[in-house]
Amino acid sequence: MPASLAVVADDAATCTRCALAAGRSNVVFGTGDPASDLMFVGEGPGAEEDRQGLPFVGRSGQLLDRLLLEEMGLTRDRVYIANVVKCRPPDNRDPLPAEIDACRPFLDAQLELIAPKVVVTLGKFAGQLLLKSKVGITKLRGHSYPFATGVLVPTVHPAYVLRGGGEPMAQMRADLVRAKQALLAAGSSLVTPASGTDR
Ligand code: SF4
Repeated sequence: MPASLAVVADDAATCTRCALAAGRSNVVFGTGDPASDLMFVGEGPGAEEDRQGLPFVGRSGQLLDRLLLEEMGLTRDRVYIANVVKCRPPDNRDPLPAEIDACRPFLDAQLELIAPKVVVTLGKFAGQLLLKSKVGITKLRGHSYPFATGVLVPTVHPAYVLRGGGEPMAQMRADLVRAKQALLAAGSSLVTPASGTDR
């Protein structure tokens, strides 16, 4: 088991284990509370994330922040947010299998050290990867799955919600409520039954 998240982050900061290292401005390791009961896992950094070295800070991130507050009553500093790959794929293309494999030890270390009670995956890649499934995200979401010592709740990617409008928005909201219920069922004090209902 790695000594600490900081040690793993230091290792990632100089990582050249896959070709994505060549095009990055910053490694986007993760952000938030490393002791949180709730962890979000997205796909990979976009342009703004690459520039700032932080995950979900562009338009998708702003939407995630808003829905997190509205549905769960949480700000991003109360949760932990990371991606499957830590460096930006060129032109926002999908990460390649070899890149996902190369980066997987960093995500596994984050999951092991943070040990969240609930993991919410954002989009197809993260959900399929962590659930070892080939089922599409529209079928995968809408359910909770046993995962490690907790529960995994797959949802759509906020970028898809930005493009897709009403139905994806309702799906993501429902999935965040599902994640809140999973936290309550696991005895987490991160949320209360009334969290996020004050809009
Ligand atoms: Fe290393 Fe992951 Fe970046 Fe590839 S994407 S260079 S494995 S940190």
